[in-house]
Amino acid sequence: MNAERLPSKHVVLLGVGHTNAHVVKMWRDNPIPDAGLTCISDNSIATYSGMLPAALAQQIPPSEMEIDLVRLCSAAGSRLVVDDVSRLDLKRREVIFRDRPPVPFDVLSIGVGSVPSMHGLKRNGESLITIKPMQTFLHRLRSTINRVLSDRASSAVDGGSGRLRIVVVGSGVAGIEILFCLPPFVASVCKADLELQLITRSEQIMESACNSTRQRVATEIARRHISVVTGQSIQEVAPSSITLANGDVHAADIVIWATGATAPEILSKLSLPLDDRGFIATSARANF
Ligand SMILES: Cc1cc2nc3c(=O)[nH]c(=O)nc-3n(C[C@H](O)[C@H](O)[C@H](O)COP(=O)(O)OP(=O)(O)OC[C@H]3O[C@@H](n4cnc5c(N)ncnc54)[C@H](O)[C@@H]3O)c2cc1C
Repeated sequence: MNAERLPSKHVVLLGVGHTNAHVVKMWRDNPIPDAGLTCISDNSIATYSGMLPAALAQQIPPSEMEIDLVRLCSAAGSRLVVDDVSRLDLKRREVIFRDRPPVPFDVLSIGVGSVPSMHGLKRNGESLITIKPMQTFLHRLRSTINRVLSDRASSAVDGGSGRLRIVVVGSGVAGIEILFCLPPFVASVCKADLELQLITRSEQIMESACNSTRQRVATEIARRHISVVTGQSIQEVAPSSITLANGDVHAADIVIWATGATAPEILSKLSLPLDDRGFIATSARANF
């Protein structure tokens, strides 16, 4: 009998985004002998963020920025589990789920990415859209635009005006890319006149960029007549307005949240040491 031998070691990737998807690709080309690979993801699609701006600007179809994890994992001979993880059992070396048997591991690589920071924000209504999960961003944005316009048509609020006021929050590279690439997306969904505003807690836009880049971005923002508020955080998002820390209230039909990265909640449930920002604490040397 030619019985297939089971692998003696189990490598598990938790989260299959930029980092771990690359591991799967390398495994496909050069698998580790006598080891099995299991991938765990909360979505069967991973999104390549570098292409989101092009998809938003209608330069490429959304499918081009998507990585089909079913196909990728199958090509690498890996098992794919699409589910939410509850916790880890570090003694037994198992990944635990609510409704399915645990997945054992000898080696675990965690790459669940980050979420935008929303600390202390009061949120009321459905007008706020976060950039993550990126897999659903375009869909959520389209439905929110349609909902705002249909609510307005049925209640004749705003005198039936055809303006759509979108505020982008966060002036890092991601926020600026979203700001510049939004108009073609909105035009593909509706005929409303788009009024854009950028609001940032930073004292200047793109703080980490060099002066010449910042200057070019500022020139482009001015050319597009986009209003900018710097040095102000948002305290509250309501259905058709936002309130700033200084008490100013601005009209906003939709608020796109693209602020700096913070740790996803799942990391606090894994019983692993965390750093002061809630990300997994790492060191240059592994302690095995
Ligand atoms: C608009 C935008 C544009 C960007 N452009 C660039 C760029 O051009 N170049 C660049 O270098 N960087 C860019 N970035 C940053 C880049 O996206 C991140 O640095 C990168 O995604 C981090 O990789 P990661 O593997 O840590 O996480 P991610 O790529 O975010 O992957 C995490 C994966 O884990 C999954 N996951 C999350 N939680 C769980 C869970 N509980 N259980 C299971 N799976 C889970 C998610 O579904 C996701 O697929 C951009 C970011 C944004 C927002």
